[in-house]
Amino acid sequence: MPELPEVETVKESLKRRVQNHKIVGVVLSYPKLIETPTSQEFVDNIVGETIHNLERRGKWILFELDHYYLLSHLRMEGRYLFRKKDDPMEKHEHISFILENGEELRYKDTRKFGRMHLLPKEKIWNLPPLVNLGLEPWDPQLTVSYLKDKLKPKNIPIKTSLLDQSIIAGIGNIYANEILFLSKINPLKASNQLTKQQLEKIIQTTRQVLGDAITKGGTTIRTYESSEGVHGQFQQNLFVHGKEGQPCLSCGTNIQKIIVGGRGTYFCSKCQK
Ligand SMILES: [Zn+2]
Repeated sequence: MPELPEVETVKESLKRRVQNHKIVGVVLSYPKLIETPTSQEFVDNIVGETIHNLERRGKWILFELDHYYLLSHLRMEGRYLFRKKDDPMEKHEHISFILENGEELRYKDTRKFGRMHLLPKEKIWNLPPLVNLGLEPWDPQLTVSYLKDKLKPKNIPIKTSLLDQSIIAGIGNIYANEILFLSKINPLKASNQLTKQQLEKIIQTTRQVLGDAITKGGTTIRTYESSEGVHGQFQQNLFVHGKEGQPCLSCGTNIQKIIVGGRGTYFCSKCQK
């Protein structure tokens, strides 16, 4: 599942191709993709709008249009690709945005979990899904006292809290595992039992891990853009995620896998006491 760095990479990649282009038509073959408004209103309202900019908030891609924002969440396997105008819609291509330059921006999603919203510009920050999002990792308001406050009522594993998009937006399972490894914190540690130093470390490593991944995404983007469309999965340098049974790069102890909150959780029992 793409997390913040992958979504950021997809957003930047798309921006180069679609910025300042007008949407002159839409082909929607999977109406359930549209969460709000109705699929008919979505199509009626978006045709004729120009894409002015692309932004990202958490794992959402925001297309800034004239009067609306198009919000897109890739979920498990959503990806964007470009086709020539009037190329037949292929399997799993659920929507096509026909651009005035003769290209079509297609959204493809084999698992069909991705969702889109079209919301009036002035309202997006006060409506779901964005109203419920927590802080961006680099928001100056993300401080030890912010985290302490948010985690105070949470007697649940810190691993689970890191995945809570209403606290810090954009962290998914892979990077939550990596952040806790680099912070030397056991994933099962109760969220409200962390020390100030540990919270500070979480903030630091979150920025480091996600920032490094964005940098890496930027350098590898062209290779995957050409073949499989823009899906935001690229080679990652990971310490613990998916490394069950392999030696910890820091101490040599075998990495363990446990399930926390239903998600595969990888950690080093020696480094993360
Ligand atoms: Zn270790």
